[in-house]
Formats: sequence, C-alpha cells, structure tokens
Amino acid sequence: MTGIREAREALKLYFGYDNFRPMQEQIISCILQQQDVVVLMPTGGGKSVCYQVPAVVMPGLCVVVSPLIALMKDQVEALLENGIKAAYMNSSLAAEEQYRVENACLAGELKLLYVSPEKLLSAGFLSFLKRLKVSLFAVDEAHCISAWGHDFRPEYTQLRILKQQFPQTPMVALTATADKLTQKDIQEQLALRNPEVFISSFDRPNINLMVKPGRDRFNKITEFLERHHGQPGIIYCLSRKGTEAIAEKLKRNGFRATSYHAGMSASQRAKAQEDFLKDDVQIVCATVAFGMGIDKSNVRWVIHYNLPKNIEGYYQEIGRAGRDGAKSDALLFYSYADVMSMRSMLTEGKEEQVELQLVKLERMQQYAEATICRRRILLQYFGETMHKDCGNCDICRNPPTSFDGTLLAQKALSAIARTQEQVNMGLLIDVLRGSRNAQVLEGGYHQIKTYGAGREISTMDWQRYLHQMLNAGLVELAYDQNYTLKLTEQSRQVLFDGRPVQLVKFDEVKQPAEEIRPK
Ligand code: ADP
Ligand code: ZN
Repeated sequence: MTGIREAREALKLYFGYDNFRPMQEQIISCILQQQDVVVLMPTGGGKSVCYQVPAVVMPGLCVVVSPLIALMKDQVEALLENGIKAAYMNSSLAAEEQYRVENACLAGELKLLYVSPEKLLSAGFLSFLKRLKVSLFAVDEAHCISAWGHDFRPEYTQLRILKQQFPQTPMVALTATADKLTQKDIQEQLALRNPEVFISSFDRPNINLMVKPGRDRFNKITEFLERHHGQPGIIYCLSRKGTEAIAEKLKRNGFRATSYHAGMSASQRAKAQEDFLKDDVQIVCATVAFGMGIDKSNVRWVIHYNLPKNIEGYYQEIGRAGRDGAKSDALLFYSYADVMSMRSMLTEGKEEQVELQLVKLERMQQYAEATICRRRILLQYFGETMHKDCGNCDICRNPPTSFDGTLLAQKALSAIARTQEQVNMGLLIDVLRGSRNAQVLEGGYHQIKTYGAGREISTMDWQRYLHQMLNAGLVELAYDQNYTLKLTEQSRQVLFDGRPVQLVKFDEVKQPAEEIRPK
C-alpha cells in the first residue's frame, strides 16, 4: 500500500515543497488508508495538496467535483505545469475536446479529472466512470451542499449518488467556510462513512477587526486611507452602482481606485483585477463578485461599506486581507438603515429560504453590535472556541464595562432547559417575563419554575442579553429546528458548575450605531 513516504516524495517532486503543513500529512495518511475525510481549512491553507498528492500516488484517477467552472482551467494548467496529468470536463468544452479527455481517461493516462456537478450528474457519466479505476473522489467547495450554508447549490445535493454507486472509493470533502450545521450536513448528505474530520484553525490573528457607525462613512474612509497611505485594499459595497459611485468619488479625491462588479464586461473585470494585482490601482470598490480565486498576498485592508448578508460571507471577504501574515485592518460600517435595506432585499427579492437568510442577517447584526471580543464571535460561529480574548479588535482595545450576569444567564438557561429546548427567542422571553399569551399557555410554560423569573427586565433588554449569550457560545440557535434555542457544553457549566458570566448592561453597550437606539 502506498504510504506517507511516497506522498512526501511526490510533494517534493511535483510541488517542490519539503514538508507538509501540519494537517496535510494526517489528512493524506487517512486518504491513503481509504478513509473518508472532511477538511475545513481557510482559503490559502493548502487544501488542494490534500487531494492532489494522493491522486498522484494512488493507482487510478482522482475525480474532483468543483462548482467553479471559471477556475477549473487554471487549476488544470497549474497541475500540467507541475508535470501532473490532469484535465477537466464541463459545459464549456467542445465535443471533440470532451472526446479527447474521455479517451485519455479510458487509456489510464490521467491522474486528476475536474468535473462540474452538472457534468457529473449528466446522462451516462456515472457509467462512464464505472469503466475507469477511480482512486478518490474530492468534493471541493463542499459547503454548497447545505441549505444552511450561504452558497447553496441544489445540484450538489444529488452527489450522494457517488457513495451509492462507488461505496468502496474514498471521498474527501473540502471547504473553507462552514458553520457547525453545514459541517454536519456535508457528512450526512454525501453519505460519508465514519469520516475523519479535520478543522484547521480559522483564526487570522493578524487582521485587526473594527466596526464603526455608518454615519459620514465617506469621510471616515478618507481619514482611514490617510493612515494607509498607498496600501492596497478592497471596499465591498452592496450595489453595483455603489461601487462605481465610490470609486469615482475616491478618484476625485486623488486616489487610484477602480470598480468591479458582475455587470461589467469580462474584459473590464479582467483589467480591474490585473490593475489591482500589479498595484496599478490602490483600491478596488467591489461587490461580493470580487475576490474568488484572487491571489494577492499584500492586501492590507478590507472595508465593508455596507453590512454583509451573513457571517460566512463577511469572514471570507475580510480573509482576503493579510494573506502574507502582516498586520492588516478590517473595518465594517454599520447602520440600522443598512439592516433595513438588506432585510427588504431579502424579503422582497426572489431569495430562497427567506427566514434562514433573515436569521443569518440577524447574527451579522449581532456581530456588529458585539460587546465581547469580535474574534471570539467569528470563530465561535465556525465551531472554534477561543480560550482568551484576541487583543486585536476594537472591543478588546476598548472594552465596555460589564457586570456579573451569572444569575441572569442562569435564569435564561434554566428556562431553556425547562421548556425542553423547544422554544425560540421570542417565546423564551415571554416565558421569562411571565407573559400570558396564547403560545405560553398552550405550551403549559406558565407552569414551569422559571416562568416570570425575569419580569423586571424589558423584552428589548432580554434580547440584548440573549444576543450576548449567543455571541459567547453560551446558547445556540438551531436554524434547522425552527430557530429554537439550545443548550451547549458551556451553558451546562453555567447552570451546574456555577461558571460566572459577564454581561454588558444595555444602556452601557457602546454600540457603534448610536443612532439606532429605539425610543
Ligand atoms: P486552498 O485551496 O486551501 O485555498 P491552496 O491549496 O491553493 O489553498 O494552497 C495555498 C498555497 O499554499 C499555494 O500556493 C500552495 O502551493 C501552498 N502550499 C500548499 N501546501 C504547501 C506546503 N506543504 N508547503 C508549502 N506551501 C504549500
Ligand atoms: Zn478581540
């Protein structure tokens, strides 16, 4: 059986690297032992090597499923340059080209074949694969399989057929972005057998996290740019028009800026991208369309002109800063008006799964209003618990004063436990406040011990405290179970081991967006 020694030789021979990065070696050993594997690694972490090296050393063909048709060609060219025989198949390929690739597969000449999910699921393709020796399936961008993720692609859900048709072939699922629910979904939907799950840290400690009120944001940007003289950066905007307007305004103020959005022609977009890569422009004002596959390591800052739709997208976008590990800044502007316009976009537009999107937006809003270390919140969202504050976010540098909220937290957690974790936030607050509304009475919740235990706290304040608890991982929100609140390991420590909880008083919350205070 091929072992890790051959793998290391292949890494040197084909990729020119002497050593694996820490997790790569374990991942590759598992794959070589025919195990199913899930890999969560941030962009730039080195995911590709995790299946490309096994592909080279295992007998047969590795089939890579990837939704990014635009990137397939580049990926294959890079492999060919390294001396690895690879090809791709998708809808962009001419018939004769397709035929040539098929023959190369049948002749056993290839080590890797990249396919789009559409191609994979198209008529006759699986029976074609059956005629080959498939060594490994690699499912890239695996978060696309989950309706809980932020980039759901329905055709991905049919990939379960791979395990059904090829039960003996190992499979590796890879993604750079998956919240906890999405991680679970990936394993279930691909029908992985006892997969080994590798989560490398998503922390990017060199990125300084900041949130500022949205008022007067253009002036705040020019002040910011004075402190970042000549340094390359990206300004993410909500709308195409916005990117153009801001780029124009920056140019009038003497900055080298350009815009980038999906409404521009392919050549305009290519030019903007190249100008940025070559440092011919300093600033790209872009929609979320910008960034996929862009390899620029010295982006020094990312500004979000508008509130992003969800934390997954936000984290990916700020992750484009500081790939070289040097100090970088992420600045988010936040205003209640942005939340409202995003809400109406989600509800009035043809967005799918409106309710889920709204909850994710609310999580984003909670991040913006955070009272605890922002990095803790981000990492917690992806299932990673930090054991101390980061020291490199605005909250850490300027912490709001807190009080001992242990008793208050215990009341809430105990009410969650006594309602069998079956209530959502609104209903929980009704129970805590001793409301006699129909839902409370129907559930019999007026008979539980903690009913009315939080009467003295207003509904609005309860919301703030519960948001703080969510942010701290003291309670969890189950998107897949009607948004009910669930206890976590940490909540049990608070309930049963008296673990103390620090909370920030509502009227002391140093909210970035002062203007949004109700009343
Ligand atoms: P991802 O797919 O996770 O975004 P890539 O696979 O593109 O990351 O790898 C990111 C960069 O790291 C690439 O330039 C790659 O060549 C490099 N890299 C990967 N593995 C190693 C390694 N073991 N040693 C040095 N560089 C590596
Ligand atoms: Zn912090």
